[in-house]
Amino acid sequence: MLKDKRVFITGGAAGIGFSTVKKFWQEGAELIVFDMVDISQTEFSKMERIKYIKTDVTSKEGVELIAQEMKNGVDVLINNAGITRDASILKMSEEMWDSVIDVNLKAVWKLSQLAIAQMKEQNSGVILNAASVVAHYGNFGQSNYVATKAGVIGLTKTLAKEVGKYGIRVNSVAPGFIATEMVKKMPQKVIDAMEEKTPLKRLGQTEDIANAYFFLASEQASFITGTCLTGDGGII
Ligand code: NAD
Repeated sequence: MLKDKRVFITGGAAGIGFSTVKKFWQEGAELIVFDMVDISQTEFSKMERIKYIKTDVTSKEGVELIAQEMKNGVDVLINNAGITRDASILKMSEEMWDSVIDVNLKAVWKLSQLAIAQMKEQNSGVILNAASVVAHYGNFGQSNYVATKAGVIGLTKTLAKEVGKYGIRVNSVAPGFIATEMVKKMPQKVIDAMEEKTPLKRLGQTEDIANAYFFLASEQASFITGTCLTGDGGII
């Protein structure tokens, strides 16, 4: 369904981003992946239809590389890269605040701006942004992270209103507890508590979120814009 579409994704070397790359690749898309991690020694870097660019999406150089690639067309942009720098409010430094804002919110705005300039010329395009369920209910020690994820939901709604007339759809996805490598390394009792809190009684898999991105990118979602699709097993 997305055969030969040019799909840009940030943070595609690990976790949800990696599963999303696999899903879109299986569906025939051409992937342009941006991540800070060096994957040049892995099989992933040699696959056809995947162009991997090692860069920091918050850097001037990264933004220029992405802008350059977008000149050749961009059908889908997935702003997936995200970081956490947790501390309760009195312990949170300005550096912790700024770094999370830069990756999780400012880069989403900047790359969306670049993509929209190109998509407007094409009169079509889809932008998908990584939010989180914590945007809806807050989370201890994550004032920076939660502010960015709530910001992403608001940014998404606003862009949807601004660019719908150009045939561009903009949506966000809010994952709940997903079994990424980081979560899998947590003590079993913490994992058990997360599962207990989730009405479907399991952690989400990275593929669950990849499927949500795929649905929103596809024609099946052609009348859906400005929304936040929650993939959280029923937590909120
Ligand atoms: P992850 O840490 O497994 O992978 C994130 C990837 O982004 C990494 O490969 C990292 O190198 C890359 N990255 C980070 N900063 C970057 C930068 N400045 N430039 C380029 N690449 C950068 O993360 P994940 O758990 O798969 O999460 C993906 C997204 O989903 C994030 O936005 C996260 O906030 C969100 N999310 C995740 C969960 C969860 O449970 N895993 C829940 C809610 C929301």
